[in-house]
Amino acid sequence: MPATVATSDLDVDVVVIGAGPAGETAAGRCADAGLAVAIVERELVGGECSYWGCIPSKTLIRPGDIVAAARRAPGAAEAVTGNVDAAAAFAQRDYMTNNWNDAGQLGWLDDKGIVFVRGTARLAGERVVEVETAEGGKQRLTARRAVVLATGTTPLMPPIDGLADVRPWNNRTITAAKQVPRRLLVLGGGAVGTEMTQACRRLGSEEVTIVDGAPRLLSREEPFVGEEVRAAFEAEGIRVHTGVRANAVRREGDGPVVATLSDGRQLTADEILVAVGRRPATTRVGLETVGLTPGEHVQVDARMRATGVPGDWLYAIGDCNGRALLTHMGKYHGRVVGDVIAGRDVGAGATDVVPRVTFTDPQVCAVGMTEADAVAAGLQIRCVTYGTGNVAGAYVQGNGITGTSKLVVDTQRRVVIGATFTGPGIQELLHSATVAIVGRVDLADLWHAVPSFPTVSEVWLRLLEAYGL
Ligand SMILES: Cc1cc2nc3c(=O)[nH]c(=O)nc-3n(C[C@H](O)[C@H](O)[C@H](O)COP(=O)(O)OP(=O)(O)OC[C@H]3O[C@@H](n4cnc5c(N)ncnc54)[C@H](O)[C@@H]3O)c2cc1C
Repeated sequence: MPATVATSDLDVDVVVIGAGPAGETAAGRCADAGLAVAIVERELVGGECSYWGCIPSKTLIRPGDIVAAARRAPGAAEAVTGNVDAAAAFAQRDYMTNNWNDAGQLGWLDDKGIVFVRGTARLAGERVVEVETAEGGKQRLTARRAVVLATGTTPLMPPIDGLADVRPWNNRTITAAKQVPRRLLVLGGGAVGTEMTQACRRLGSEEVTIVDGAPRLLSREEPFVGEEVRAAFEAEGIRVHTGVRANAVRREGDGPVVATLSDGRQLTADEILVAVGRRPATTRVGLETVGLTPGEHVQVDARMRATGVPGDWLYAIGDCNGRALLTHMGKYHGRVVGDVIAGRDVGAGATDVVPRVTFTDPQVCAVGMTEADAVAAGLQIRCVTYGTGNVAGAYVQGNGITGTSKLVVDTQRRVVIGATFTGPGIQELLHSATVAIVGRVDLADLWHAVPSFPTVSEVWLRLLEAYGL
């Protein structure tokens, strides 16, 4: 079903700029509350997540994960007689992204009664949004109540000598690729870099090298995370270089890319993927017309109101406010902002407890503070760890399952403030930790939350026992 498309100037209650997961959620929540909503999108409704982020990357990761899981389980292992079928995996990715077509999402907007404008929007002062439409026209949208910025981010290209000239890949190139390069060099050992490194190796890249300037991969997480992921990568033939940076890159014509690292080493690859971070897409959205600085994250308070803008009419949600570059957090911001604009009570406002899963094998699942975060915050803490592979729920999944589980406990309040789990296929374990942290569940009460046998969740019990309960 096509969306209701605005073709002339419009007055509505709420204008949302950007129809990624954050903007769509905010628009839907406002519409559900009976408000008149218009949403502007310059590319595809669904945003980075649906077409060049979460969905295609997880789709490409999944086949390799299943094959690896089967290889760990005798009986299934014998049935694995070949490698991942990359062509089929790419075809599934095409299906999951709807071949980069947002017709399905437009139907959702229409069902919600949200007016859709395809074009590039910018603020033009208080409550006014000007749109250059996809057809080349101009439209002026006026918001009676609020404007919500949900413009997301774009890939950050670091100032490496020669980088711009070697046709570097970014998240869009790799998630939309038709095949994997034979030799791939990845710059950046964060979530995107590590996930795509392993995905490409498992989809058939013969040589994959990942480089990160930090001492470890996934360096913002607990130190054991980077060590375990590195060991798993090296066991799969992936080369890992940490504590070094690429200083210069060159490509002669259609030849390979040659990167020179800060320690003088040279690496050669057919393609180079740059995954070193994101910059806010706030450069050309008219921030200067409301007293904010273009190109920076839009700072917000716990109700997602842009700080420094009088009148309570401008909000910023999702990646563009820089609080947590994750779809589920952007959608949460969208729900918060929808309720705030509709005049509903949102309690204390948005929480900063951020659950995060890196879909490598081993998976890395973390929420709340790491030990280092808690120490830096001056909290009195005690940490406990236990082997994720040492519970029956892990044994029954197959052989050789390892990993680490760790809780950071605030000893004064006797509540968990951080949790990290590594191991294969454990992403569903994370929400239990999120509930414990957000709900500030007393440790003594947690002890009565009995995990089922045989599940990996039994690791909770072992962690509490390690704490002395
Ligand atoms: C490879 C990769 C994998 C990822 N995997 C995960 C994952 O597994 N889980 C997870 O939680 N997160 C993941 N992320 C992060 C996730 O994609 C983002 O956090 C999420 O897309 C942010 O949503 P958003 O709505 O804030 O912004 P976006 O999704 O970036 O959407 C912003 C939208 O605004 C539009 N826009 C921008 N400026 C204008 C303008 N002036 N006028 C009109 N429209 C405009 C853009 O075209 C875009 O569609 C991944 C990211 C990448 C790159």
